[in-house]
Amino acid sequence: MARTRNIWVLPEISDEGEEISKLSLGLLTEARYVAEKVGGAVTALVLGDRTEDYSAILGKYGVSRAYIFQDPLLQNFSAEAYVAALLPRIQSEKPWLLLMGHTTVGRELAPRLAALIDTGVITNCAKIDVSRPEQPRFFRPVYGDQLYQEVVFQTDNTMLVTMDPRALNASPAAKPAKVRVLTIEPKITAESIKTRHLEYLPADSRTVDIADASTIVSAGMGAVTDEILPLVEELAGLIEGAIGTTRPVVDGGKIPRERMIGQTGKVVSPEYYLALGISGATHHVGGIQDSGKIVAVNRDPQAPIFQSSDVGITADLKDVLPVLIERIKRAKNNGEIL
Ligand SMILES: Cc1cc2nc3c(=O)[nH]c(=O)nc-3n(C[C@H](O)[C@H](O)[C@H](O)COP(=O)(O)OP(=O)(O)OC[C@H]3O[C@@H](n4cnc5c(N)ncnc54)[C@H](O)[C@@H]3O)c2cc1C
Repeated sequence: MARTRNIWVLPEISDEGEEISKLSLGLLTEARYVAEKVGGAVTALVLGDRTEDYSAILGKYGVSRAYIFQDPLLQNFSAEAYVAALLPRIQSEKPWLLLMGHTTVGRELAPRLAALIDTGVITNCAKIDVSRPEQPRFFRPVYGDQLYQEVVFQTDNTMLVTMDPRALNASPAAKPAKVRVLTIEPKITAESIKTRHLEYLPADSRTVDIADASTIVSAGMGAVTDEILPLVEELAGLIEGAIGTTRPVVDGGKIPRERMIGQTGKVVSPEYYLALGISGATHHVGGIQDSGKIVAVNRDPQAPIFQSSDVGITADLKDVLPVLIERIKRAKNNGEIL
């Protein structure tokens, strides 16, 4: 008898607002696309310590069944607790495909589960091709996104995949699905968990993931001299902006790779994007087009970045930044801005 091709998805709940994260809505959308093509159904796995009703949003994205795992030990993410909750269900129901985000959660959880259910895991997948459902093909970026690797599973067990957040786009189903909800109390024992969550430490806005930042202060080649870069960092601290950058700056080792924005870097969508000493090459601008307001400072009036910005300032950063920092500090001291 042909195996039912059911797709299970692990949506993550955002820290604020107890809502399903934007990334996870993209994950649910991807699962629905795959399910439609292979004739399967989508089940969402929601883990936590109390009951929230996510049926409306899950149904909107085409989920037909939700397993709500409830246990006090699931209050914060713990790979051990998540495995204890999920493993018996996966072993008994053997979903065809299990999708997670390539996030802190997915990266830690997927390999553990894969080892325990004796299957493989494909990480950071950017595309799933199910044109031949009996042998799905998965594509993942390699060598700094220069190439795509094509991978297939060689197992009849559940296929475990973490999806590249950059490849996900949230799109509700044409018709909402009716969600059957099953609440499960896995009764996890404290002794089975070897690590303990102590506290969340507030993120330093300058080091926060640029993909989530609402303000980005981005330093291009014109802003990373020994004189200017400390001023950029000071400005970022004052306005609680995350530091972003361009590829040549990363190649020069001045700012780490995870801060790179653009075609081969991250795609960002902050409310405010400050482009400091950035020329505005298409490779870079491709990653900032979803920004709310783009403010550019460049000493070259012909710099292409001005064509993509809402506010453009032709000036030398050496002159502008000290004045700007001074003004912000004064306004903060006077209580004019927080
Ligand atoms: C296949 C491929 C993929 C790529 N992917 C990416 C990508 O993902 N992201 C990315 O960013 N790039 C990418 N690039 C590189 C991209 O083409 C550009 O080379 C790069 O974005 C330029 O970076 P920049 O603006 O920091 O530097 P530059 O082009 O050197 O610009 C520096 C700017 O700073 C200004 N400036 C200098 N000093 C000052 C000062 N004191 N005050 C004010 N302004 C000043 C200059 O006028 C200039 O406009 C890619 C290239 C290739 C070939």
